[in-house]
Amino acid sequence: MERELTNILDEARRSGGSIVALTGAGISAESGIPTFRGTEGYWVIGSKNYMPQEMATQEMFRRAPEEVWRWYLYRFGVCKYAQPNAGHRALVSLDRALGDRFQLVTQNIDGLHLRAGATPNRTHCIHGDAAFVRCADACSHAASQGELGEQHGKLPLPDMGVRGADTPFTEADRSRLSCPRCGAWLRPHVLWFDEYYDEENYRMQTALRAASQASLLLVVGTSGATTLPMQIGELAFRRGIGMIDVNPEENPFSDLCQASAKGFFVRGSACERLPEIVQALTAFEVSGPVV
Ligand SMILES: [Zn+2]
Repeated sequence: MERELTNILDEARRSGGSIVALTGAGISAESGIPTFRGTEGYWVIGSKNYMPQEMATQEMFRRAPEEVWRWYLYRFGVCKYAQPNAGHRALVSLDRALGDRFQLVTQNIDGLHLRAGATPNRTHCIHGDAAFVRCADACSHAASQGELGEQHGKLPLPDMGVRGADTPFTEADRSRLSCPRCGAWLRPHVLWFDEYYDEENYRMQTALRAASQASLLLVVGTSGATTLPMQIGELAFRRGIGMIDVNPEENPFSDLCQASAKGFFVRGSACERLPEIVQALTAFEVSGPVV
């Protein structure tokens, strides 16, 4: 391992401070989940191609809820069959070793961190979670617990069967995706392009608070295209804490790491590099020579 990286990890381990991991699509790409950006995310309605930036919006959901649901159910199907990889598992080891000193902030909605064994109350899904739905009319709120099987205002996604890109939307689908409280559409529990981060659904303040208290930020597989992750990176940079970016390609986070005295850009994938990084962060202290 690079000496500079070893030094940053050693210092973080000895400090006994907390660690925040921030993950993006790159870690799940190694499990075979496409980013659904660009052409692989196109969706055809009639004779028109729509970009994910058009599909994943409140505006499109109001206009064509069945098409938005067909697109999501197809995408969610891809997530369902993907398996967590060595990168997800390495972060679970860190979660187990550090307990409350570890917080995971993820942009991924695929649920792979949780399926790998991440602790739910330390895993903050800032772009939502494909495993859940909520009332599109927001008839319930975060405090609703239990009454209709809700957890923090969310319901588990009903079983919608196996969906291909051509699977039609049926009346039965419509009733399965109706709010049991008020009958309005249920919507995917994901942050759309024309919506804002918040605490109630997306744990914005929790994520920022974790970053403001951490002594190390470990960024994995994110390109910094969205605002909250970038805010977290800039906060860590301003605080001058240890900062590591694991990514096969340069990106705004690697720029921050390279500009920081305690930063390091690890060029590589999560599966290749996270296991050794986590091992260095969780190694037991071995008494060195007394000098
Ligand atoms: Zn409702």
